[in-house]
Amino acid sequence: MEDHIVSALAAGQQIRAFGCTSRELVEEARSLHNTSPVMSAALGRTLTAAAMMGSMMKGDKDILTIQIKSAGPAKGITVTADSKANVKGYAIDPGVVIPAKPNGKLDVSGAVGPGTLRVIKDLGLKEPYVGEVDLQTGEIAEDITYYFAASEQIPSSVGLGVRMNRDNTVRRAGGFIIQLMPDASDDDISVIENNLKGLKSVTEMLDSGMTPEDILSEVLKGLDVRFNDRYDTAYKCDCSEERVERALISLGEKEIAALIKENKDAEIHCDFCEKDYIFGPDRLKEILKKSRALQGG
Ligand code: ZN
Repeated sequence: MEDHIVSALAAGQQIRAFGCTSRELVEEARSLHNTSPVMSAALGRTLTAAAMMGSMMKGDKDILTIQIKSAGPAKGITVTADSKANVKGYAIDPGVVIPAKPNGKLDVSGAVGPGTLRVIKDLGLKEPYVGEVDLQTGEIAEDITYYFAASEQIPSSVGLGVRMNRDNTVRRAGGFIIQLMPDASDDDISVIENNLKGLKSVTEMLDSGMTPEDILSEVLKGLDVRFNDRYDTAYKCDCSEERVERALISLGEKEIAALIKENKDAEIHCDFCEKDYIFGPDRLKEILKKSRALQGG
């Protein structure tokens, strides 16, 4: 099943819902960053949430960032998504190894630990929208649920899951976000609560062959689900030599001249795709010229 997101409305538009399968993109993140199993899960859950949250945005250039800063061994996770559900992200320490929980599950909350979750939405306005909450459990889904309630005042239910193969590649990944609109009735809410009680984990459902549509149909059973859209989601880093060059140019003359004086290559690393860009002294001299031209003009 290729990575994709489906969106739906239920209970006469009083509930909106997103479902996602994201194995390919989480596996891409795992292989790029060589994440340990618990960090594949932590980063994968965050990427999956961001993909769905990104697709909620309307503008072509809108960017959503989820920033987790934490006191646990993972130290932090940064993920960004655009409105076409292209995502990228990294963990500060991708190699965390800690014992599994007593039930055998990866201890994501143990790796993440206490901290804060910040959501930054750049919607092309003067100031980006920023909402920050304390991490509730460090399991990511509960933290995003709390973020929606506390920061956006939208009662939500979020499920996220990543299951690994024995060889530490990603077996399944996916999730759902259910949101109540202001006129959702108490009856509708209790139907969802009941459905959630009997619900298997996201990865169990995906493992049994269920699609994101099937998962949403299960969560919203009895609430007249209507599917709207289906779109692809993928891991995509948009860094390029041109972008890095522009970043170097914007450092300004003084900084660039200092780099040239050292007579060393300038190495710029992309945290999102682990690519290294190397600019030798000749290239830096060109960049210095461009920077001068920019400042002069
Ligand atoms: Zn990159």
